[in-house]
Amino acid sequence: MKEWSQEKLVTQAMQAREHAYAPYSDYTVGAALLAKSGRIYTGCNVENAVYPLCTCAERVAVVKAVSEGEREFVALAVATQNGGAPCGSCRQTLREFGEDIVVLIADATGAYRETTVAELLPGSFSATDFRYR
Ligand SMILES: [Zn+2]
Repeated sequence: MKEWSQEKLVTQAMQAREHAYAPYSDYTVGAALLAKSGRIYTGCNVENAVYPLCTCAERVAVVKAVSEGEREFVALAVATQNGGAPCGSCRQTLREFGEDIVVLIADATGAYRETTVAELLPGSFSATDFRYR
């Protein structure tokens, strides 16, 4: 795929954050996931009065992308008020599709830091762990 812009991906995550449904936590989150196809899939957190049903923005983006046939990803940007990092569940969900995915963690000003799935989830469990049998 052609070159991509970290700033553009962060901007799309910030825009997706505006759609967040977070009446309980008031912690709105947006995500933008760049697939190797070049397409970008966005997501926001979707909360529920039954708390365990709350879904994170990152996983919404992954589910949208995979449900449209994507399997390979380049980067994910996530935007919150204070630059909060993806939760453990989202780290594992991203790990399913690779350790080298770049993760951009942004705050409400658009400032961000760059990391990777491997850095966020060292020693992770993955499909290769099934290959012992
Ligand atoms: Zn999460």
